[in-house]
Amino acid sequence: MVEKKEGILFVVSGPSGVGKGTVINEVLKVIPDINLSVSYTTRPPRKNETNGKEYFFVSEEEFDRMINDGEFLEWARVHGNFYGTPRSFIEEKLGENKDVILEIDTQGARQVKRIFPDGVFIFILPPSIEALLTRLRGRGTDCERDIEIRLRNARDELSEWEWYNYIVVNETVSFSKDLIASIILAERCRSSRLEMKGI
Ligand code: 5GP
Repeated sequence: MVEKKEGILFVVSGPSGVGKGTVINEVLKVIPDINLSVSYTTRPPRKNETNGKEYFFVSEEEFDRMINDGEFLEWARVHGNFYGTPRSFIEEKLGENKDVILEIDTQGARQVKRIFPDGVFIFILPPSIEALLTRLRGRGTDCERDIEIRLRNARDELSEWEWYNYIVVNETVSFSKDLIASIILAERCRSSRLEMKGI
């Protein structure tokens, strides 16, 4: 009787090391009917990463070609590497009335907000700067130079929190997962996103 008018785009940002990836993976377990967009990047894969799972890893030449062919919904240079969201995946899923979740930086999120003003923008904050530092260093996947760059950029990214619709302080993965799942479920019930059929 009542149906969603169109798929909802959820955008999650937060500084490097805040635990976005871990939290989103947990959200996907409890909300299986949401599609995670896999970005393209020129960053080399980390030890534990697989092409097509965390990212599609491409050369700068290939990334440039994709920019020129309009294949990105948005793209940005983040921590010295390029990252982009595939336009076709997002448009296809939303067109099929399916929800999509993106994990992108604040520059990318701003671009997406212009294209999809009705998107839901969620910012994950660390409980403290110290907690962020500890996590970045403890992760053991980035070299010291990369950690320095990520820390320097963290302050700029943190200053963007205010324009996001929802703020999640990542005290524990489990509670942050509950919060984001609640946001997704509540947005799906928003009257402005629904239409009545057959009355
Ligand atoms: P990492 O290298 O740690 O996986 O990601 C670095 C940053 O790039 C994170 O803030 C992440 O959200 C962001 N990022 C990942 N994919 C995209 C994308 O497609 N577009 C943009 N603008 N940022 C992205």
